[in-house]
Amino acid sequence: MHRITLIPGDGIGPEVTRAAREVVLAAGAAVEFEEVIAGQRAEKELGTPLPRSVFDSIDRTKIALKGPTQTPFGGDYRVAIERADATGRAGKRTYPSIAIALRRELGLFASVRPVKTYPAIASRFDKVDLVIFRENSEDLYVGIERMVDEGTAEAIKIITKRGTERVTRFALDYMRRVGRRRLTIGHKANVLKMTDGLFLKTAQDIGKSRPEFTVDQRVVDALCMELVMHPEAFDCLLLPNLYGDIVSDLAAGLVGGLGVAPGANFGADCAMFEAVHGTAPDIAGKDIANPMAMILSAVMLLRYIGEAPAADRIEAALTAVLREGRAVTRDLGGEAGTRAMTAAIVEKLK
Ligand code: NAD
Repeated sequence: MHRITLIPGDGIGPEVTRAAREVVLAAGAAVEFEEVIAGQRAEKELGTPLPRSVFDSIDRTKIALKGPTQTPFGGDYRVAIERADATGRAGKRTYPSIAIALRRELGLFASVRPVKTYPAIASRFDKVDLVIFRENSEDLYVGIERMVDEGTAEAIKIITKRGTERVTRFALDYMRRVGRRRLTIGHKANVLKMTDGLFLKTAQDIGKSRPEFTVDQRVVDALCMELVMHPEAFDCLLLPNLYGDIVSDLAAGLVGGLGVAPGANFGADCAMFEAVHGTAPDIAGKDIANPMAMILSAVMLLRYIGEAPAADRIEAALTAVLREGRAVTRDLGGEAGTRAMTAAIVEKLK
């Protein structure tokens, strides 16, 4: 029996994680969920958005399924953590958001976001099948910013050879396991010659040592243009943190929107699965959210823990519900709520 930490999160998080949990259990996977709270509810009840109980649970289980957590735009909001980090370094650290705090504290250096067209989901393209690898711990997301004076703000971008080597090796190993061969590096090394220059050269050097793969590169703006014109021409993408974040949402938009885009964060001995989307405050608590992205994140989790048959069953049930088109949420052109779509998938699993 695998124990999994479940973090419902904020906004639509509790609705979509409940859906994923129901579907995973209905598929007969050998898992038990251990629920811990983070986000606004934790802030209210425990005085901190990211309580120690979250880390205690993940330290035990090494696997988490996480709903989105809310972060205020602007201002000086920081998430404070006091514990030994993944490298054993003790002390108090602060981060720009809960999601970033978790990824950094748990050493989850690689984010993987598969993007593919699903049957019966209206989208502009019908043959997209991409995997996006995003470096998850460096770049502008280290969150070092300051006001230089009242009219000037500054942020620091950090790229390291070690961090880039680690995520590139991870990407190529992942590709070998799933039978993919071409990796396109996205960068802006024409302008950011040192930071993105280091990312590009390091990733290319690793690529040269693995001749079984084709490794090419694109300037990230040109990559975005090519993606919206010919997304089917790409196989796998490797991007630094910020471009990876932006291009993931862009790619989700190519295949039906944020409601269908799953994701995972991997470290050396720990993994956290979460949808690409955020808390969607505009639709939270209304039984409108599409649970598919979170369910597909749980499918990635099941494959990671060796529960591939349950993962296959869930994908087949979801595909059947999409093809029938009756019990799908509004973003997919239907009228069903989160609960009704989940119930339809569970029904197919019986
Ligand atoms: P968002 O992803 O929450 O929403 C963007 C748009 O997509 C909204 O119109 C929303 O209704 C729609 N949408 C998102 N998920 C959907 C779903 N499952 N079904 C149907 N429609 C869906 O992005 P945002 O509005 O920029 O961010 C809201 C909050 O979420 C912010 O506080 C942000 O910091 C947070 N966020 C958290 C994470 C995370 O925890 N990993 C990731 C992204 C954003």
